[in-house]
Amino acid sequence: MIKLYDKYFDLFLSEEEILAIVKKIADRIAEDYKDEVPIFVGVLNGAFMFVSDFLKCYPYPCEVSFVKLSSYRGLTSTGIVETLLDVPDTIEGRSVIILEDIIDTGRTLQELVHIFSNTNVKNFKIASLFFKSESYNGEYPIDYLGMEIPNNFIVGYGLDYKEQGRNLRGVYQINQSKMINLVLFGKPGAGKGTQAGFLKEKYNLKHISTGDVFRYNIKNNTKLGKLAKSYMDKGDLVPDEVTIRMLQDEVEKNPEASGFIFDGFPRTAAQAEALDNFLETKDMKIHATIALEANDEVLIKRLLERGKVSDRPDDQDEEKIRNRFEEYNQKTAPLIDYYSTQKKFHSVNGIGSIEEITKRLTQVIDSLT
Ligand code: AMP
Repeated sequence: MIKLYDKYFDLFLSEEEILAIVKKIADRIAEDYKDEVPIFVGVLNGAFMFVSDFLKCYPYPCEVSFVKLSSYRGLTSTGIVETLLDVPDTIEGRSVIILEDIIDTGRTLQELVHIFSNTNVKNFKIASLFFKSESYNGEYPIDYLGMEIPNNFIVGYGLDYKEQGRNLRGVYQINQSKMINLVLFGKPGAGKGTQAGFLKEKYNLKHISTGDVFRYNIKNNTKLGKLAKSYMDKGDLVPDEVTIRMLQDEVEKNPEASGFIFDGFPRTAAQAEALDNFLETKDMKIHATIALEANDEVLIKRLLERGKVSDRPDDQDEEKIRNRFEEYNQKTAPLIDYYSTQKKFHSVNGIGSIEEITKRLTQVIDSLT
């Protein structure tokens, strides 16, 4: 086991195992390109070790070059990718083989395909040492693939965790045994967002509020925002399919998190089941669902107060608030049984000062470990 910053990682592949995979890729490409001089294009920074070992295994004449892209992963999953180091000029009429260390969502790959579609290359192929098939959303097939790996965070052999670990000779996988994943449960206005703000600091967790992600998308007028707006404005739930996909994206964006607070998700039985199944694929699970309890009249007063200062239309009209409660009673309340059956359901009195309620929540969380 090794430690980088606050995270622990276990050995996943030794140097010998990696080199055997690299050699296999080089042999296959050599067979296909022995009659010409291809240009190998490494994708920085992660691919530098792979490129180096690959070239040592490649037996025929070839050239090498590099590109560097930077992907910005904000709250939306648009994943804009910018070119920092561009394609070489000598590329026209040549066979180009991209060397990638890892392909996960496929956003970088999509951008590479786009960049190279504007050049007059003879042909264009992709070789990747690792491939996370569970998180791949792209359509482009990977021509030369080293190894499919599970959807866990890995470092080493060029891959980093916050820029460290690239110099490790083996590949290491994050050790999730110390992770805590919580669902904060309760009606609108119960204080989930406020309490999540404190808990995420105390336990070093990533807070995902599906309501906030939707509002961010509405503000930025994204496709997702446009879709969600009509439902949210009325106080209806956004369809499961959309919400589940979005939630998964948010989790995928934080592969190195020490745990998550899910706030406002799941809200239906289908969402709860999808969440369990999804987490299982990542060797993760929900540890506890904690409900903040408060009665409707208190909540309506709180929400109308909040509506005066926020620009949320769903907080400014009592009828919409009541509709949100109705949605909760019909679709979300049944989840109490779902989590009780799994012995994960806890309930906390949500009336009192913010500090008192935080204390009640931390008592439950501390009793989990
Ligand atoms: P919230 O900020 O959690 O009160 O959410 C505001 C609105 O966002 C809800 O009334 C729904 O329209 C939508 N929303 C948030 N989370 C979900 C979810 N898990 N499923 C469906 N709709 C959601």
